Amino acid sequence: MAERLRMDAEYLELRTKHPFVIARGGRSEYRTVWVKLRDVDGNEGWGEAAPSKFYGETAETIMAALPHLEGALPSDPFDLEETERRLEGTMRYNAAARSAVSAALHDLAAKRLGIPLYRMWGLDPAKAPRSTFTIGLDTPERIREKVKEAAEYPVLKVKLGGAHDVDILRAIRETTDREVRVDANCGWTVKQAIAMLPVLREFGVTVLEQPLPPSQLDGLGEITRRATIPVIADESCETAADIPALVGRVDGINIKLAKCGGLREALRMIAVARTHGMVVMVGCMIESSLAITAAAHFTPLVDIVDLDGAALLANDPFVGAGIAGGQVTLPDGPGLGVRRR
Ligand code: MG
Repeated sequence: MAERLRMDAEYLELRTKHPFVIARGGRSEYRTVWVKLRDVDGNEGWGEAAPSKFYGETAETIMAALPHLEGALPSDPFDLEETERRLEGTMRYNAAARSAVSAALHDLAAKRLGIPLYRMWGLDPAKAPRSTFTIGLDTPERIREKVKEAAEYPVLKVKLGGAHDVDILRAIRETTDREVRVDANCGWTVKQAIAMLPVLREFGVTVLEQPLPPSQLDGLGEITRRATIPVIADESCETAADIPALVGRVDGINIKLAKCGGLREALRMIAVARTHGMVVMVGCMIESSLAITAAAHFTPLVDIVDLDGAALLANDPFVGAGIAGGQVTLPDGPGLGVRRR
């Protein structure tokens, strides 16, 4: 009889050290879902689904989607490519839920081989770039404190798109001369973004992420033409299929597992972006070290890493990939190499 994988799931209640605020709003309490697959020999594969209302998911929709996805599980955990397609065919959207199942299957497959996932993919963990650490929207006063608290991180990512963007950049530059990248999270109009370009230059910003709402691709193209720094599409780029329309309009793309739906799709996005000479970034949600580690395994393939989701937490339930001192370190245990704290 064919082997059957069993699925279990439970909620994880996460808390950030500070309320985390971006252009769309913010909070301190986050609920994600821990997905566990078990094979007949008792091997376990783990994944985490971090919902984003922006992409139409909550922890509760993830929990409701999982029994449907369980029906699409393979009998052979190495059947990764076909399974991801089948998960997508079973349930469109629900990318975070699907990505947790994909991560758990990859964890299980690499554990059965007794090797880390990055080794299963033939990647050199020493090639992982440094990760940024994010400073959310706040008052200039609090921003100065947060920048000081983040002293160990050599590259900062600053959330803009609110009413006090120039004040925030000034507060940061008064506090540090570290590298600063900016994410406007769709918060600007074309006119505002163009007005901000000289300001970004004045404050030495090196990367601009998603200045405009997702569908404004021509506007993105106009900003990219005028910008002297790379412009990266995040909310405008969910899966590999979004990349052709972005070619020539942005310099690069930001991959997140909770947007793209799985690790195979993430690798496909890297391949497609590279074909077009684009910069490749990997980002994250507010999520524990479990989801962060799944994404960290392919960081040797990318240029820009923003995997600080777990570093922002006060109660990370897992130990896995780290970004201490800004350097991404991959665990060398089998599979994802994640364990309970
Ligand atoms: Mg972003």
